[in-house]
Amino acid sequence: MIDASKIKQLANLIENASEISVVTHMKPDGDAMGSSLAMYHFLTSFTKCDVRIVLNDRYPANLAFLVHETALPDIIVYNENPDAAVQRLNNSDLIICLDFNAFHRTDKLEESLTYSSAKKVLIDHHLFPDSEHFVLAFSTQEISSASELLFHILKAMPQCDGKASNLPMKAAEALMTGMTTDTNNFNNSVYPSTFSMASELIAIGVDRDRILFNLFNRFGENRLRLLGTMLKDLLTITEDGVAYMVLDKEIQERYQINEGDTEGFVNMPLSIDKVRMSLLLKEDGDRVRVSIRSKKGTSANRCSRLHFNGGGHENAAGGRLNIPADIQSISEAGEYIEKHTHIYLTQEHEA
Ligand code: 5GP
Ligand code: MN
Repeated sequence: MIDASKIKQLANLIENASEISVVTHMKPDGDAMGSSLAMYHFLTSFTKCDVRIVLNDRYPANLAFLVHETALPDIIVYNENPDAAVQRLNNSDLIICLDFNAFHRTDKLEESLTYSSAKKVLIDHHLFPDSEHFVLAFSTQEISSASELLFHILKAMPQCDGKASNLPMKAAEALMTGMTTDTNNFNNSVYPSTFSMASELIAIGVDRDRILFNLFNRFGENRLRLLGTMLKDLLTITEDGVAYMVLDKEIQERYQINEGDTEGFVNMPLSIDKVRMSLLLKEDGDRVRVSIRSKKGTSANRCSRLHFNGGGHENAAGGRLNIPADIQSISEAGEYIEKHTHIYLTQEHEA
């Protein structure tokens, strides 16, 4: 499944590197953190390289359990220490990019990534990878997650010799976590290889129950209360079968919502028969972040590319609305969505 010559190249690049940075997309989710931490634990267990994870912004609190003993100085966050992040990327001789397809997905790290003289490797599962920036790219869409792709890659590396049991346990746990969040706990994007991965990881002792507990049973009461309000008062369904909810700053403050708290909410309206596509918008500083999910036959990715300045996967995409380029204020978001999804579904969408 993984090209042996590419594994050889990766092994060579790692062997010849001394400072390695592991980078993932802005607002890192479970797959971004899971794949980054797994790469980190693999490299620190098996090589003498100096390894750091460089993030645009800090991971959400509900993923803190996964970071556990990783010494904190090993994670550099641009938004907290921009100079350290830029310097690190400039000084690295190898940068491993996980779970994103183009440098702009790292927000403020984009410039340093573009101009760093480091060799760059891509390990990703999104459409349209910017392959020309990388000396080596592992990119496929026929897979659940970047974490699953990395699992197959690490297992094939000489250090593991084809056996999951040779993975460091912390890497194995991180990979299971990333796969679990990106598939919504085996709800979407699941392939035969995904079950094989899960089976192998459980066989070597990964405690899946503990991971599920940490991921899904440790939220605050506020999250569920907000969900109640959203479904009751904020959910609109258009005649085209588009469901949308808009979270402005006021409601986020009222319910003291943190990053990660609304994970999964955008999927819920898809349980309604007539809904083809669901959007969740969140006001975030001077922009509005957009999450889009769609049923088979409707492309969330294309809709995001055409109307929401983004992209992603066929049925799970993201993007943003810019103020004032797209809308004057958050109060115009509903109108924008209705107009643009109508154009998309009636004039531009190829079934
Ligand atoms: P989410 O809605 O969970 O933030 O993102 C859904 C999927 O779309 C993820 O795979 C994410 O990486 C991707 N995605 C989110 N925002 C963007 C964006 O602005 N551009 C692109 N190309 N992909 C995005
Ligand atoms: Mn992912």
